[in-house]
Amino acid sequence: MARHTTLRIGGPADAWFEPATVRALQAGVRLAAERGLPVSAVGGGSNLLVLDGGVRGLVVSTRALRGLEREGEQTLRVEAGVSTGKLLLVATQWELGGVEFLGGVPGSVGGGLIMNAGTTLGEFKDTTTEVASVRLADGELVRRTAKECDFGYRCSALPANEIVVWGRLTLRPRPRVEIEADVRALRDRRREREPKGLPNAGSIFKNPPGLFAGRLIEEAGLKGRRIGGAEVSEKHANWIVNAGGATAADLLALVDLVRTAVRERHALELELEVKLLGES
Ligand SMILES: Cc1cc2nc3c(=O)[nH]c(=O)nc-3n(C[C@H](O)[C@H](O)[C@H](O)COP(=O)(O)OP(=O)(O)OC[C@H]3O[C@@H](n4cnc5c(N)ncnc54)[C@H](O)[C@@H]3O)c2cc1C
Repeated sequence: MARHTTLRIGGPADAWFEPATVRALQAGVRLAAERGLPVSAVGGGSNLLVLDGGVRGLVVSTRALRGLEREGEQTLRVEAGVSTGKLLLVATQWELGGVEFLGGVPGSVGGGLIMNAGTTLGEFKDTTTEVASVRLADGELVRRTAKECDFGYRCSALPANEIVVWGRLTLRPRPRVEIEADVRALRDRRREREPKGLPNAGSIFKNPPGLFAGRLIEEAGLKGRRIGGAEVSEKHANWIVNAGGATAADLLALVDLVRTAVRERHALELELEVKLLGES
């Protein structure tokens, strides 16, 4: 799984399934259910720490679900495997605004919906009107309104026993030059503060209400702290990078160390933003 995560960490999956259609995904999920195999989903692997023992059962990659249709003037139906970069590119070409916030956010639309990914410019919640997912128990398609998805800060109520297969987004007409100016400014701001060059998963912890996890970690004096191959980035303390040969155990040990230091100093419990998958 190290090949399928931006952290480049993770043991093997028992089985890897890359369906090209929603129907094929449903069939695979039903087969797994009949055989009692556990099923998990992976999108771009950009918010994922796969543990060193790997993942039992079937890992479904959404990467081949790449449909992107325009419905009427302003609505897009986007399959889960479409990359956030592709969505932003197409919306820009069609002069539709609303996903500028994706500038520099990696991953897939499915992962973005589950996480309600976002930046200072917005989040998936702002444009999503409907989400469809496949239920792992029986392969049935379930459709939910945005309200039912109950999007929050880097989370949603989309259940863990379903795989998101598409989302419907309603955008608004906006001149291409304006979209590009916003995206460029966002990317420039990000470039200044984000580490480049070493495998990572973006922010490791969620920001506590009204605070920045990065600042709390920096104040605890942990920039540059290293365990094995895992290192608290010198550039942005809420990023833990794989500085070379890191294992999931290294990264989790560093997460523990950071949490303990922040708890002792600020009496605050940092919550992981990155999702864990598999067994140690
Ligand atoms: C350099 C960098 C910068 C980043 N910057 C940001 C940022 O600014 N804002 C932000 O919000 N995030 C950011 N992230 C984190 C990440 O890009 C987002 O959380 C992204 O939405 C994750 O999408 P993904 O497809 O990679 O999901 P994955 O990492 O593949 O999966 C994340 C979780 O969702 C589940 N999942 C994935 N796809 C599906 C599906 N179709 N159905 C059901 N479950 C699924 C997985 O099982 C896992 O639990 C950054 C990451 C990196 C590496």
